Amino acid sequence: MPDHAICDHCNGRIEHGEGYTFFSSASIGLPGMEQLTGNMMLCEECTNRIITVENWLRAPSPSRREISGADFLANPSAMFDTMRRTNEDSIIQNCQAHGFTPNQAKAKARELAQQWWIDPESAQRESARFWSSKSRSSTAPARRPAAHQSRPQHAKFPKGCLIGCGALSLLLVSFCLLGVWLMQSEQKVIRSETENVLNLITQGKTAEAYANSSMLMRSEMDEAGFAASVQELKLTGYVGWQEKKLTNHRKPQYGWTVEGYAIVEGGRTVPITLEFIQENKQWKLRLIRRS
Ligand SMILES: [Zn+2]
Repeated sequence: MPDHAICDHCNGRIEHGEGYTFFSSASIGLPGMEQLTGNMMLCEECTNRIITVENWLRAPSPSRREISGADFLANPSAMFDTMRRTNEDSIIQNCQAHGFTPNQAKAKARELAQQWWIDPESAQRESARFWSSKSRSSTAPARRPAAHQSRPQHAKFPKGCLIGCGALSLLLVSFCLLGVWLMQSEQKVIRSETENVLNLITQGKTAEAYANSSMLMRSEMDEAGFAASVQELKLTGYVGWQEKKLTNHRKPQYGWTVEGYAIVEGGRTVPITLEFIQENKQWKLRLIRRS
Protein backbone atom coordinates (compact mmCIF):
# COMPACT_ATOMS: atom_id res chain seq x y z
CA MET A 1 0.00 0.00 0.00
CA PRO A 2 1.43 3.41 -0.91
CA ASP A 3 2.36 5.61 2.02
CA HIS A 4 0.84 8.72 0.50
CA ALA A 5 -1.31 10.04 -2.34
CA ILE A 6 -1.18 13.17 -4.45
CA CYS A 7 -3.99 15.71 -4.43
CA ASP A 8 -5.68 15.73 -7.83
CA HIS A 9 -6.31 19.43 -7.51
CA CYS A 10 -3.10 21.00 -6.22
CA ASN A 11 -0.63 18.10 -6.53
CA GLY A 12 0.01 18.41 -2.80
CA ARG A 13 0.86 15.41 -0.65
CA ILE A 14 -1.90 13.49 1.10
CA GLU A 15 -0.69 11.32 3.97
CA HIS A 16 -1.76 7.72 4.21
CA GLY A 17 -5.37 7.44 5.40
CA GLU A 18 -6.16 11.09 4.80
CA GLY A 19 -7.92 12.98 2.01
CA TYR A 20 -11.40 13.29 0.55
CA THR A 21 -12.79 11.50 -2.47
CA PHE A 22 -15.04 13.56 -4.68
CA PHE A 23 -16.16 13.22 -8.26
CA SER A 24 -16.11 15.75 -11.08
CA SER A 25 -18.46 15.17 -14.00
CA ALA A 26 -16.69 17.98 -15.82
CA SER A 27 -15.69 17.21 -19.35
CA ILE A 28 -12.99 19.60 -20.41
CA GLY A 29 -10.54 19.85 -23.24
CA LEU A 30 -9.91 20.82 -26.79
CA PRO A 31 -12.87 20.32 -29.14
CA GLY A 32 -13.27 16.64 -29.84
CA MET A 33 -10.78 15.77 -27.10
CA GLU A 34 -12.82 16.57 -24.01
CA GLN A 35 -12.21 14.20 -21.15
CA LEU A 36 -14.28 13.40 -18.15
CA THR A 37 -12.31 14.16 -14.99
CA GLY A 38 -13.96 11.51 -12.80
CA ASN A 39 -12.86 10.68 -9.26
CA MET A 40 -10.70 13.21 -7.52
CA MET A 41 -8.74 12.63 -4.34
CA LEU A 42 -8.39 16.00 -2.63
CA CYS A 43 -6.21 17.19 0.20
CA GLU A 44 -7.57 18.83 3.33
CA GLU A 45 -6.66 22.30 2.11
CA CYS A 46 -8.36 21.99 -1.30
CA THR A 47 -11.42 20.43 0.31
CA ASN A 48 -11.71 23.27 2.82
CA ARG A 49 -11.38 25.80 0.05
CA ILE A 50 -13.95 24.20 -2.28
CA ILE A 51 -16.50 22.78 0.14
CA THR A 52 -17.72 26.02 1.71
CA VAL A 53 -21.06 27.66 2.46
CA GLU A 54 -20.16 30.56 0.14
CA ASN A 55 -19.61 28.16 -2.74
CA TRP A 56 -22.87 26.39 -1.92
CA LEU A 57 -24.74 29.65 -2.29
CA ARG A 58 -23.47 30.56 -5.71
CA ALA A 59 -24.81 28.71 -8.71
CA PRO A 60 -22.16 26.40 -10.15
CA SER A 61 -21.45 26.76 -13.84
CA PRO A 62 -21.94 24.13 -16.56
CA SER A 63 -19.66 21.15 -16.35
CA ARG A 64 -18.64 20.88 -19.98
CA ARG A 65 -16.17 23.29 -21.43
CA GLU A 66 -14.46 23.31 -24.74
CA ILE A 67 -11.20 25.10 -25.03
CA SER A 68 -9.90 26.03 -28.44
CA GLY A 69 -6.31 25.31 -29.42
CA ALA A 70 -5.84 29.04 -30.07
CA ASP A 71 -7.04 29.92 -26.56
CA PHE A 72 -4.68 27.37 -25.11
CA LEU A 73 -1.69 28.71 -27.02
CA ALA A 74 -2.62 32.30 -26.20
CA ASN A 75 -2.85 31.65 -22.49
CA PRO A 76 -2.11 28.13 -21.22
CA SER A 77 -2.24 29.09 -17.54
CA ALA A 78 -5.69 30.69 -17.90
CA MET A 79 -6.85 27.44 -19.41
CA PHE A 80 -5.59 25.41 -16.47
CA ASP A 81 -7.42 27.85 -14.16
CA THR A 82 -10.60 27.28 -16.16
CA MET A 83 -10.11 23.57 -15.81
CA ARG A 84 -9.65 23.79 -12.05
CA ARG A 85 -12.71 26.02 -11.62
CA THR A 86 -14.81 23.71 -13.80
CA ASN A 87 -13.84 20.71 -11.67
CA GLU A 88 -14.60 22.61 -8.46
CA ASP A 89 -18.04 23.59 -9.78
CA SER A 90 -18.81 20.05 -10.79
CA ILE A 91 -17.75 18.67 -7.40
CA ILE A 92 -20.09 21.17 -5.74
CA GLN A 93 -22.91 20.28 -8.16
CA ASN A 94 -22.57 16.59 -7.38
CA CYS A 95 -22.60 17.25 -3.63
CA GLN A 96 -25.64 19.48 -3.90
CA ALA A 97 -27.46 16.90 -6.04
CA HIS A 98 -27.46 14.68 -2.94
CA GLY A 99 -28.93 17.51 -0.85
CA PHE A 100 -25.76 17.63 1.26
CA THR A 101 -24.64 20.60 3.29
CA PRO A 102 -20.92 21.32 2.97
CA ASN A 103 -20.24 19.43 6.19
CA GLN A 104 -22.27 16.41 5.10
CA ALA A 105 -20.48 16.41 1.73
CA LYS A 106 -17.12 16.47 3.48
CA ALA A 107 -18.15 13.60 5.75
CA LYS A 108 -19.22 11.47 2.77
CA ALA A 109 -16.03 12.28 0.83
CA ARG A 110 -14.01 11.38 3.92
CA GLU A 111 -15.80 8.06 4.25
CA LEU A 112 -15.11 7.27 0.58
CA ALA A 113 -11.44 8.22 1.01
CA GLN A 114 -11.10 5.89 3.97
CA GLN A 115 -12.50 3.06 1.86
CA TRP A 116 -10.11 4.06 -0.87
CA TRP A 117 -7.06 3.52 1.32
CA ILE A 118 -8.28 -0.01 2.08
CA ASP A 119 -9.46 -1.06 -1.39
CA PRO A 120 -8.82 1.55 -4.08
CA GLU A 121 -10.50 -0.38 -6.90
CA SER A 122 -13.86 -0.84 -5.23
CA ALA A 123 -13.73 2.60 -3.60
CA GLN A 124 -13.23 4.20 -7.02
CA ARG A 125 -16.22 2.36 -8.40
CA GLU A 126 -18.27 3.28 -5.37
CA SER A 127 -17.24 6.94 -5.51
CA ALA A 128 -18.09 7.26 -9.20
CA ARG A 129 -21.39 5.46 -8.70
CA PHE A 130 -22.39 7.42 -5.63
CA TRP A 131 -21.41 10.94 -6.68
CA SER A 132 -22.75 10.70 -10.21
CA SER A 133 -25.94 8.86 -9.31
CA LYS A 134 -27.89 12.06 -8.81
CA SER A 135 -25.87 14.26 -11.10
CA ARG A 136 -27.98 16.89 -12.79
CA SER A 137 -25.39 17.35 -15.44
CA SER A 138 -26.93 16.20 -18.71
CA THR A 139 -23.65 16.74 -20.48
CA ALA A 140 -21.61 14.29 -18.45
CA PRO A 141 -20.73 11.36 -20.67
CA ALA A 142 -22.15 8.04 -19.57
CA ARG A 143 -18.88 6.21 -19.97
CA ARG A 144 -16.79 5.12 -17.06
CA PRO A 145 -14.64 7.80 -15.55
CA ALA A 146 -11.12 7.57 -16.85
CA ALA A 147 -9.53 8.85 -13.72
CA HIS A 148 -8.37 6.62 -10.90
CA GLN A 149 -8.85 3.48 -12.89
CA SER A 150 -5.48 1.91 -12.55
CA ARG A 151 -2.96 4.54 -11.62
CA PRO A 152 -0.85 3.98 -8.55
CA GLN A 153 -2.15 6.13 -5.73
CA HIS A 154 1.13 7.88 -5.21
CA ALA A 155 1.62 8.85 -8.86
CA LYS A 156 0.90 12.30 -10.13
CA PHE A 157 -1.53 12.11 -12.99
CA PRO A 158 -2.80 15.13 -14.86
CA LYS A 159 -6.52 15.44 -15.07
CA GLY A 160 -9.00 16.35 -17.76
CA CYS A 161 -7.66 18.28 -20.66
CA LEU A 162 -4.19 18.36 -19.21
CA ILE A 163 -3.66 15.14 -21.14
CA GLY A 164 -4.93 16.54 -24.43
CA CYS A 165 -3.18 19.85 -23.97
CA GLY A 166 0.01 18.16 -22.90
CA ALA A 167 -0.03 16.11 -26.08
CA LEU A 168 -0.78 19.19 -28.16
CA SER A 169 1.99 21.25 -26.63
CA LEU A 170 4.41 18.36 -26.98
CA LEU A 171 3.48 18.15 -30.65
CA LEU A 172 3.94 21.90 -31.13
CA VAL A 173 7.27 21.89 -29.34
CA SER A 174 8.38 18.93 -31.47
CA PHE A 175 7.40 20.81 -34.63
CA CYS A 176 9.30 23.89 -33.49
CA LEU A 177 12.37 21.86 -32.61
CA LEU A 178 12.17 20.04 -35.94
CA GLY A 179 11.90 23.40 -37.72
CA VAL A 180 14.92 24.79 -35.87
CA TRP A 181 16.88 21.63 -36.52
CA LEU A 182 16.05 21.67 -40.26
CA MET A 183 16.96 25.35 -40.47
CA GLN A 184 20.26 24.79 -38.70
CA SER A 185 21.20 21.83 -40.83
CA GLU A 186 20.38 23.79 -43.99
CA GLN A 187 22.51 26.70 -42.80
CA LYS A 188 25.38 24.33 -42.19
CA VAL A 189 25.14 23.00 -45.74
CA ILE A 190 24.91 26.53 -47.19
CA ARG A 191 28.00 27.64 -45.24
CA SER A 192 29.93 24.67 -46.52
CA GLU A 193 28.73 25.21 -50.11
CA THR A 194 29.75 28.88 -49.91
CA GLU A 195 33.25 27.83 -48.84
CA ASN A 196 33.43 25.29 -51.67
CA VAL A 197 32.45 27.84 -54.31
CA LEU A 198 34.85 30.51 -53.06
CA ASN A 199 37.73 28.07 -52.65
CA LEU A 200 37.27 26.79 -56.21
CA ILE A 201 37.12 30.33 -57.55
CA THR A 202 40.17 31.49 -55.64
CA GLN A 203 42.07 28.39 -56.83
CA GLY A 204 41.19 29.32 -60.40
CA LYS A 205 38.93 26.26 -60.78
CA THR A 206 36.06 28.26 -62.24
CA ALA A 207 35.15 25.44 -64.65
CA GLU A 208 34.57 23.14 -61.70
CA ALA A 209 32.65 25.79 -59.78
CA TYR A 210 30.49 26.33 -62.86
CA ALA A 211 29.88 22.59 -63.32
CA ASN A 212 28.79 22.32 -59.68
CA SER A 213 26.37 25.24 -59.89
CA SER A 214 22.62 25.05 -60.45
CA MET A 215 21.15 24.13 -63.79
CA LEU A 216 19.19 27.34 -63.59
CA MET A 217 22.34 29.44 -63.46
CA ARG A 218 23.99 27.41 -66.20
CA SER A 219 20.93 27.85 -68.39
CA GLU A 220 21.33 31.60 -68.13
CA MET A 221 25.10 31.88 -68.34
CA ASP A 222 27.80 29.90 -70.13
CA GLU A 223 31.10 28.88 -68.58
CA ALA A 224 33.02 31.75 -70.14
CA GLY A 225 30.48 34.27 -68.90
CA PHE A 226 30.71 32.80 -65.39
CA ALA A 227 34.52 32.92 -65.47
CA ALA A 228 34.41 36.55 -66.58
CA SER A 229 31.93 37.52 -63.88
CA VAL A 230 33.91 35.94 -61.07
CA GLN A 231 37.09 37.49 -62.47
CA GLU A 232 35.51 40.89 -61.86
CA LEU A 233 34.93 40.02 -58.22
CA LYS A 234 38.69 39.91 -57.66
CA LEU A 235 38.49 37.11 -55.11
CA THR A 236 42.08 35.95 -55.63
CA GLY A 237 43.62 34.89 -52.32
CA TYR A 238 40.29 34.44 -50.54
CA VAL A 239 40.94 33.68 -46.87
CA GLY A 240 37.58 33.99 -45.17
CA TRP A 241 34.54 36.04 -44.34
CA GLN A 242 33.75 39.11 -42.40
CA GLU A 243 30.15 39.69 -41.31
CA LYS A 244 28.58 36.81 -43.15
CA LYS A 245 24.80 36.89 -43.08
CA LEU A 246 22.56 34.00 -44.11
CA THR A 247 18.92 34.55 -44.91
CA ASN A 248 16.43 32.26 -46.49
CA HIS A 249 14.11 33.54 -49.16
CA ARG A 250 11.02 32.21 -50.88
CA LYS A 251 11.06 34.14 -54.11
CA PRO A 252 11.39 33.41 -56.91
CA GLN A 253 11.87 30.02 -55.26
CA TYR A 254 12.91 28.77 -51.84
CA GLY A 255 16.61 29.31 -51.29
CA TRP A 256 19.33 30.94 -49.26
CA THR A 257 21.17 34.22 -49.67
CA VAL A 258 24.63 34.67 -48.24
CA GLU A 259 25.78 38.26 -47.93
CA GLY A 260 28.92 39.68 -46.46
CA TYR A 261 32.50 40.66 -47.01
CA ALA A 262 34.95 38.14 -48.36
CA ILE A 263 38.45 38.78 -47.05
CA VAL A 264 41.05 38.40 -49.77
CA GLU A 265 44.84 38.72 -49.90
CA GLY A 266 46.28 41.83 -48.35
CA GLY A 267 43.30 42.00 -45.94
CA ARG A 268 41.13 43.64 -48.56
CA THR A 269 37.37 42.97 -48.27
CA VAL A 270 35.00 42.36 -51.15
CA PRO A 271 31.25 42.79 -50.61
CA ILE A 272 29.61 39.81 -52.24
CA THR A 273 26.28 38.03 -52.41
CA LEU A 274 25.71 34.38 -53.20
CA GLU A 275 22.39 32.67 -53.69
CA PHE A 276 21.70 28.96 -53.40
CA ILE A 277 18.71 26.94 -54.51
CA GLN A 278 17.86 23.30 -54.19
CA GLU A 279 18.03 21.05 -57.21
CA ASN A 280 17.66 17.28 -56.92
CA LYS A 281 17.85 17.65 -53.15
CA GLN A 282 21.22 19.38 -53.34
CA TRP A 283 22.03 22.99 -52.64
CA LYS A 284 23.50 24.62 -55.75
CA LEU A 285 24.85 28.06 -56.54
CA ARG A 286 22.24 30.22 -58.19
CA LEU A 287 24.27 33.40 -58.48
CA ILE A 288 27.36 35.12 -57.22
CA ARG A 289 27.81 38.85 -57.55
CA ARG A 290 29.26 41.91 -55.96
CA SER A 291 26.85 43.35 -53.35
ZN1 LIG B 1 -4.93 19.90 -2.77
